Amino acid sequence: MKYISTRGQCEPHSFEEVVLTGLAPDGGLFIPETVPQLSGEQILSWKNLSYADLAYEIIRLYVDGAVEDDVLKQMVTDTYAEFSHPEVAPLHELGDNEWVLELFHGPTLAFKDFALQLLGRLLDYFLEKRQQHVAILGATSGDTGSAALEGCKHSKFVDIFILHPHNLVSEVQRKQMTTVAGNNVHNIAISGNFDDCQQLVKQAFSDQSFLPDGYQLAAVNSINWARIMAQIVYYFYAALKFLDKNEAVSFSVPTGNFGDIYAGYLAKKMGLPIDQLIIATNKNDILHRFVSQNQYNLRGLEASLSPSMDIMVSSNFERFIFDMFKGDADKVTAFVTGLSKELNQVSEDEWAFAKANFDSASINDEETCAVIKEVSDKYGYLLDPHTAIGVRAAQLCKRNSDIPMISLATAHPVKFTEAIERAGLEAPALPDHLADLLERDESYVVLPQDLTDVKSYIVKSL
Ligand SMILES: *Cc1c(COP(=O)(O)O)cnc(C)c1O
Repeated sequence: MKYISTRGQCEPHSFEEVVLTGLAPDGGLFIPETVPQLSGEQILSWKNLSYADLAYEIIRLYVDGAVEDDVLKQMVTDTYAEFSHPEVAPLHELGDNEWVLELFHGPTLAFKDFALQLLGRLLDYFLEKRQQHVAILGATSGDTGSAALEGCKHSKFVDIFILHPHNLVSEVQRKQMTTVAGNNVHNIAISGNFDDCQQLVKQAFSDQSFLPDGYQLAAVNSINWARIMAQIVYYFYAALKFLDKNEAVSFSVPTGNFGDIYAGYLAKKMGLPIDQLIIATNKNDILHRFVSQNQYNLRGLEASLSPSMDIMVSSNFERFIFDMFKGDADKVTAFVTGLSKELNQVSEDEWAFAKANFDSASINDEETCAVIKEVSDKYGYLLDPHTAIGVRAAQLCKRNSDIPMISLATAHPVKFTEAIERAGLEAPALPDHLADLLERDESYVVLPQDLTDVKSYIVKSL
């Protein structure tokens, strides 16, 4: 299988190249040239597979021989053996036909472990084969950083540099990044917000001449295709728990960079019967404004109680825009590079396509806390603020109460205690394996929001 760029200005790439580079050379994002199609029968035949076995079946469709089947199978098995729950992604029932899919049983307690534990292994495999070194450069609004560092800390062929917005991630999140030991691990706090970090990363990728000979940059942020691929799996896993009794399921997805929900969109494109896919955002609501009003324009970033969704632009939305514009790469390029504060609209047909695929809602901080309190009182279950936004959006957008509604629980509540406390509840304790986290020694530098400083720090540290 080949991967093409959403901007149409580079040759199709192999899976191996796509994993190693992240962003396409023309600045676009890689998407599979064709999406594998599965019959209903084929999907149902996977009903009793374990998480790892199901992951292998789905992932191998996209890896398409780039890793030998037995090696891939071992990799996938090892990846999900690191998760602390035997089901890997267990479902928890809230109300009637209302479910939460717990995606926080990985090493860093957020859904990003599903992809990054695998990506670390894929990178190691390809780099070892090539005897090549890479510098991973990524920006994080919190959860990606620790998951990436955990996923890559053992790799002999990787140096990893993670930029996070200084003072804008929670203490637990910061500690989860800055206490990862390893001399290939480098944490950089940028005096700016997440979009500033993301901008620096994009700029560094666009001109890599500052690197010493033999080095290249690799991306592990959610634009990396392998991450999307790994995330497709849990949509199938959850849906299969219902698919003999029910004809379809719906998902509500706390959304920032649009990686997680794009994986759901692909699952649907592959043939999984998904009725509604709900984009749940906080007050940084560009996607909600687009889906509900056909308005796609920038607004200033607002800090919220769900910081992993505090972004102005959702990078992965470009992958969906490509489909919305029926594969017209020039149109995609003009649309995404022309994004500004000015009103930006698409045609009625294009907007109808977006609305046919997604519902959306935007939930503010006050409402987020109200949901956390409500669900705790009613069901004795503690939601993290991102998940709470998904749960409320599900309630607001649900069309058919006969169809199971599954909200993705993207993080463990212990990562975001501020929202829990503001909801008037007691913060949960850290799980055993992280019990001493807050006492561990930290290591990070603070740099200004300046590309030259970031580049020289990277070169100095390699
Ligand atoms: C990353 C993250 C999100 C947003 O996911 P995207 O793929 O960026 O849309 C939501 N919740 C939590 C807890 C996250 O870490």
